[in-house]
Amino acid sequence: MKQNTVKELIAQLEQKNIKGFLANDEAEALFRYCQLGSELGAALEIGSYCGKSTVLLANAVKYVGSVVFAVDHHQGSEEHQPSEEYFDQALFDERLNRVNSFPYFQKTMQLFNCEDQVIPVLTASKKLEAHWATPLGFVFVDGGHSHEASYFDCVAWSKKLVVGGVLAIHDVFENPHDGGQGPFLGMNAVLESGQFKQLEKINSLVILQRTV
Ligand code: SAH
Ligand code: MG
Repeated sequence: MKQNTVKELIAQLEQKNIKGFLANDEAEALFRYCQLGSELGAALEIGSYCGKSTVLLANAVKYVGSVVFAVDHHQGSEEHQPSEEYFDQALFDERLNRVNSFPYFQKTMQLFNCEDQVIPVLTASKKLEAHWATPLGFVFVDGGHSHEASYFDCVAWSKKLVVGGVLAIHDVFENPHDGGQGPFLGMNAVLESGQFKQLEKINSLVILQRTV
């Protein structure tokens, strides 16, 4: 299969209007660091939405023959609910009478030939975490953004990484005027464990690496 360069991939995501919240510089970094981490173990993301980040991760793990666990209940976060700021009518499922991004996610996986690399897990982060035992090389946290959800995802899932594994956290804003503080608090808690160091910050995407 043709191995796309990341810039081509990002251009295709734009061209095909795949819904999502990743800026181009963040998308590039996500791809690069997933390649690094997935040398050491499988990749996992919390918050797949319509599959934009998943396409990047799937293409990154392809090089090492690994997989991405794409975890999302596909019911949307608080801000995606009807009458909230990021509600999208196209993702409202009349039959279920709720937001359901899974059909759109499936379509994105098919369009980008990612089905061999991606294992969708349709459940809440917390439920899965309680049963998760596979050591991971890369974790991307981009699920619920409340203080509680972000803190849980950062702290609990970072513990599943092997030494050298990479943790990427999206929507990290130091200044409350720029955005919610959940991911920032989560990142700080991970750093306070003394087991991680920061490698880089690209826009709102923070990259940490497990050191011990
Ligand atoms: N990474 C995506 C954007 C994710 S948006 C992109 O690049 O475009 C956040 C997603 O997190 C939503 O799809 C929502 O359904 C999911 N989510 C929110 N809380 C969750 C939870 N507790 N467990 C699993 N998924 C959750
Ligand atoms: Mg995000």
